This record gives sequence, C-alpha cells and structure tokens, in this order.
Amino acid sequence: MQKVKATLKPDVRLVAVSKFHPLTDLQEAYDAGQRVFGESHVQELVAKQEALPKDIEWHFIGHLQTNKVKYMASFVSLIHAVDSLKLLKEIDKQAQKVGRVIDVLLQIHVAAEETKFGFTPDEVTEMLAEDEWRGLKGVRIVGLMAMATNTDDEVQIANEFERVHELFGQLKERFFATEPAFKELSMGMSGDYLIAQEHGSTMVRVGSMVFGERDYSQPFRL
Ligand SMILES: *Cc1c(COP(=O)(O)O)cnc(C)c1O
Repeated sequence: MQKVKATLKPDVRLVAVSKFHPLTDLQEAYDAGQRVFGESHVQELVAKQEALPKDIEWHFIGHLQTNKVKYMASFVSLIHAVDSLKLLKEIDKQAQKVGRVIDVLLQIHVAAEETKFGFTPDEVTEMLAEDEWRGLKGVRIVGLMAMATNTDDEVQIANEFERVHELFGQLKERFFATEPAFKELSMGMSGDYLIAQEHGSTMVRVGSMVFGERDYSQPFRL
C-alpha cells in the first residue's frame, strides 16, 4: 500500500479495493492508516462493514442493481458506478428513508469493450439536461467514474481517460457550475492508475497492487 501511495500525486486519493480479500488484510491496511475501501459485491460489502471499524469510508465501486441499494444506504460513503436515472432514483429513495444524502458518481462508458456499463457521453448529457435529477434530494452527484479498455496500448488508455476528463469539464461548466462538490473523477486501477492521474483523476481504485492477486476460486471469505 505504501508503495502505491508513494506514486500518487498529493491530491489523488487511494480507494483500496479489497474485494475477495479477507478481513485480516483490510485490518492490516486500516492499521497502516488506510480509511477508504472499495467493494463491488453487496453481500461482501455489508459483511465487512459490520465487522470492521466504523470510521472506514466504504465505497461501492461495482455494478449496482436497484434492488440492492437498500442494504448499503445507511452507511455507504460513495457509489461510483451509477449508470441509469432509474438507479439514481432508487438511491435517492433509499437515502431519504434513512435520512441521508448519498454521494454518487456517474459512470461513463468510453472503453472499447461492449461489456462495460455506463452512460455514453451523449446519454449522460441528455440525462442531465432533463433536470429530473435536480429534484432528487437524497443524492448528490459529485463527479464521474470510468474504466479504460483492458489493453496494453497506453496511448489508447490515455485517450480514453482524457475524453472523460474533457467531458467532466464540460458537464461541470454546463450543469454544476455553482456546485463545488462536483469535483471527483474516479479513474485508474492497478494497471493504469499512473496514466489516469495524468488525466485528471482525483481518486484511483487500486486492488491487486495493494492487496495482491484475488482468488476467485471460492466465494468471498471474511
Ligand atoms: C476490481 C476493481 C478494481 C481494482 O482492480 P485492480 O486491477 O485489482 O486494481 C477497480 N475498479 C473496479 C470497478 C473494480 O471492479
């Protein structure tokens, strides 16, 4: 973890992606000072949150189904991958139920792979232009999240991150000019966070470089 931290620009935050790693690994990172952890499975997130210190900031970074929002509404600090108005509305509803305002990022699809979720730049612009989201008092949109194509081509990765960075600037000017909270750009994983932070990332989601390789051969362990 310290090795990763040493390579981060001072204003870039590390989200330690702890999915599939046992509680002892998270506790060790906690003891070394880490307070922001990212998980991408709801059951695992909830179980870890219950077991670990309460001053941890839990980020949900995976694809989120609307019927699962309720399990994390009372404690989640940031939901990274909001990819529809429907999901935004459900987060709003569940947040209001527990008297919270939940911070979220809108996921932007720029990667070449078909399988990655997210709004296209046109879709997100359309959604924001519709204004319905402004009435959702239980959510606060604080920025964008994106994943680059899984490739060795660093030029392509840099281009994809830069497109999201530019989109971020445009959306900020057009829809969030009076909202200083809209300032986060979640981009970069173990393989590409160094590139991401050269293209405006404020938050990198790093897993295997912090905790080692994940073992997917069994269900998650605590
Ligand atoms: C698992 C995951 C990461 C971390 O991946 P590493 O390559 O292990 O750093 C980052 N972002 C998302 C959305 C993930 O699901």
